[in-house]
Amino acid sequence: MSVVIAGSVALDNVKTPQDSQENLLGGSASYAALAASIFCQPIHLVGVIGHDFPKPHLDLLASRGITLDGLERNSGESFTWTGEYHDDMNSRTTHKVGLNVLEQWQPQVPEAAKTAKIAVAANMSPDNQMQMLDQVQADFVAADTMDLWINIANERLHDVLKRIDLLVINDSEAKEFAGTTNLVDAGRKLQAKGPRFVIVKRGEHGSFLFGEKPEDFFACSAYPLHSVFDPTGAGDSFLGGLVGWLAANGKTKPTFEDLKTAAVHGSVAASYTCEAFSTHKLQTVTLADIDARIAELRSYTNF
Ligand code: AMP
Repeated sequence: MSVVIAGSVALDNVKTPQDSQENLLGGSASYAALAASIFCQPIHLVGVIGHDFPKPHLDLLASRGITLDGLERNSGESFTWTGEYHDDMNSRTTHKVGLNVLEQWQPQVPEAAKTAKIAVAANMSPDNQMQMLDQVQADFVAADTMDLWINIANERLHDVLKRIDLLVINDSEAKEFAGTTNLVDAGRKLQAKGPRFVIVKRGEHGSFLFGEKPEDFFACSAYPLHSVFDPTGAGDSFLGGLVGWLAANGKTKPTFEDLKTAAVHGSVAASYTCEAFSTHKLQTVTLADIDARIAELRSYTNF
């Protein structure tokens, strides 16, 4: 079972209260693909990089069973994101976004990836998401987005919502997009715009999953971490882990119950991302690591 994931492949410059590092492997597709690859391989990555993209980053992705046939190499500069976390690590400031090669890019899904049963349009412009979705024949399609696209490409984002089975979005963006201050209301309003399932991510507080029936609601816990080092990419890792679990378990037409289990696995995958800069911890995670944290989380949340 394979998964195709399109999105940004970035060079991130990240500052936290403890440290700062530059030219880190980042991007929505990189995180999602690495998290998915814990559960299922191959993962087909669709993205674009520039001439300045370090080879070790590519070698790392390939070493985790991520196929790079859909990764376009462009002579321009790579997409870059520069951000800073503040004391409580829950708030961050984006200092600079260098769209660079992303500006003119149109995703090209390789032949081998077109028949993947699960497709993810990770965070990128809604135009790019639509271009990607036009090329795949997946049974299950998931997408993420962010405030930038809600503000500058709202109409196009509504088109994306009509094409997907699952929207994953963070809490403040869900409220903004749905035009409400209540999170449950936001989840249901977004669902009414198209997707059968909506997940609202709530950072260290976990996430809310909304299914088709009014009683289909699940509060997914985050794994309680003692210290968060760099949460960049946690949302993308959540989505990647979720679809990786679905693929590994043959759930290409998932029920609400399947999505509950998938969300818990995504949540645990994301916890590893927060423990080191960039993908440094995520890229070492095994299924046994995931299972151990799932067991812990089960004991913390059952009563
Ligand atoms: P998250 O922390 O889950 O919001 O994801 C952060 C990742 O998203 C970083 O690695 C960035 O490179 C990437 N990113 C930031 N802004 C954008 C954007 N406008 N389009 C696509 N990816 C982005």
